[in-house]
Amino acid sequence: MIDLEELRKKNLVRPFSTSLKSVGCGQVSEEHIGKELKLVGWIESIRDHGGVRFIDLADITGKVQLVAKKEQKIDTYRTIEDLVEFSVIRVEGEVRRRPEGTENPKIRSGSVEVFVSKIELLSKPDILPFLPTERKEPSEEIRLKFRYIDLRREKMRRNILVRHLVARKVREFLWMHNFIEIETPFLTKSTPEGARDFLVPSRLQKGKFYALPQSPQLFKQILQVAGYERYFQIVRCFRDEDLRADRQPEFTQVDLEMSFVSEEDIIALVEELLRFVFEEVLSYKLEIPFPRISYDEAMRKYGVDKPDIRIPFEIQDFTQIFSESKLDFIADAIQGGGKVLGFVASGIQPTRSKLVSYEQLAKSMGAGGLMWFVVQGGKVVASPILKFLQDKEKSALALTLNGSDGVIFAVAGRYELARDVTAKIMKNISHDFNKVNTSKFAFLWVVDFPLFSWDEVEQRYVSEHHPFTAPKEEYIGILESDPLRVRARAYDIILNGEEVGGGSIRIHQEDLQRRIFKILNLSETEVEERFGWFIRALRYGAPPHGGIALGFDRLVALMLGEENIREVIPFPKTQSGTCLLSEAPSSVYQKQLDELGIKIKER
Ligand code: ASP
Repeated sequence: MIDLEELRKKNLVRPFSTSLKSVGCGQVSEEHIGKELKLVGWIESIRDHGGVRFIDLADITGKVQLVAKKEQKIDTYRTIEDLVEFSVIRVEGEVRRRPEGTENPKIRSGSVEVFVSKIELLSKPDILPFLPTERKEPSEEIRLKFRYIDLRREKMRRNILVRHLVARKVREFLWMHNFIEIETPFLTKSTPEGARDFLVPSRLQKGKFYALPQSPQLFKQILQVAGYERYFQIVRCFRDEDLRADRQPEFTQVDLEMSFVSEEDIIALVEELLRFVFEEVLSYKLEIPFPRISYDEAMRKYGVDKPDIRIPFEIQDFTQIFSESKLDFIADAIQGGGKVLGFVASGIQPTRSKLVSYEQLAKSMGAGGLMWFVVQGGKVVASPILKFLQDKEKSALALTLNGSDGVIFAVAGRYELARDVTAKIMKNISHDFNKVNTSKFAFLWVVDFPLFSWDEVEQRYVSEHHPFTAPKEEYIGILESDPLRVRARAYDIILNGEEVGGGSIRIHQEDLQRRIFKILNLSETEVEERFGWFIRALRYGAPPHGGIALGFDRLVALMLGEENIREVIPFPKTQSGTCLLSEAPSSVYQKQLDELGIKIKER
């Protein structure tokens, strides 16, 4: 894992000198020996060694050891004895080599110390709610409420610096490849990306609203019409969704768009970009090109559209093996058009209680149960349904293990249910039995997505990606007659089973775009009201174009091995969308509402 000191070396290269200080605390080094320096920082610790005090003085660049006499004056009344941890002080002193045997090789300034001749107290702290130097992590609520203290912790310093470095390297790469950084509006009109919009009321035009962008999708396409052939932006996006652990109402994307390209150009560019960033930031060598899998194959083999290809198992269809089963629940499932799906986990030996816990998980997902078959020495030796199994079923099952020992899991039921349950159990078992190489970064492209899916609730077709995604040429003829068969020119990029980006080649012809809207059941009036401004642009010389957006927060989190994106966002919101630091969202004054012409129905 990347070390904070390494990061400082990469990020904070120039001397942090101002009129108050000569260099940053962590930048004091042997080259300063014999020199008088001015330093400013926070006291991280004070150690009492009889007549002298050792002080660790820290700032963003790291820390340096100060040595001061106990009677060293601060002002007329106070001495060094009055200083407490996390006071902000300014010192002057001479840099000396540390006595042999007292060096600290872990920090950059570890071979030197500063003999203090003058101290000034710039800011005296109250008692801190927690110490950033403590090993134990406070509750997340406290961490977010006092984020400014939390952000002083080593781990957060590392995360924020890595985030910064990734952004820098992304820019560096894209600049090198002729991309132009262009801002698009935040106060804009709703663009559907499948979520609810955050609305901003207009004061000048009462009763009207801006929407915060769910992404810069339409503006980046407009920029292509305008001839800005390679656009990019590291940009905030806003989606008003019910928040899950890995979502935030505002999040950051590396958003890009190119003209005169095919899928291959975008995919190749993103692979090069990621290889560059991983090498520069983590010194990790990614092998490119990344593997690709079609959406259909991903669903069939892994049961999800974002497979973690580090998982060594694949879904198998056992329906044939059980086609003459005497067990009602299996026979009924098959007769009702369902399947028996499962997977073969060789080399694992779960305890009975573990097996029961998987069974419970399967049931909680709506399956009738979970079948498992322990195979040893080429024979099924245990299973909850052992006595109901016919010999040919047993031997067919045992054969799937190719002579090794292990366990076969299976679920009978509706295809989608059996698939989803199998996928979930497969994932859990891989992790529970350390079958996943967690030090590996496994990228994967998922391609050939369906263009539409059917929304049961709304009773209409909806876009799988977004309505501006182009269908594959060969399906244009069946757009209206068989929408669900149409495949899209879309691609998602997956890292270790998490979606870290997605994009597509876009529609650049007005008539095709209108046909898509029609299939999505938008009336002409709706299309005009919501997208008229955009469709009009397609009339005036729109080049073929395409692009992608990478989820920046998630990418950084995965690079750092952080499970939660809140760990890489300086000021994140809680599950209920609250900023615990500023206490947003909050009520506003009546006067503000009046100005906007807004009346709150009820609180
Ligand atoms: N705008 C899309 C998104 O936010 C990305 C793209 O199609 O480029 O997912």
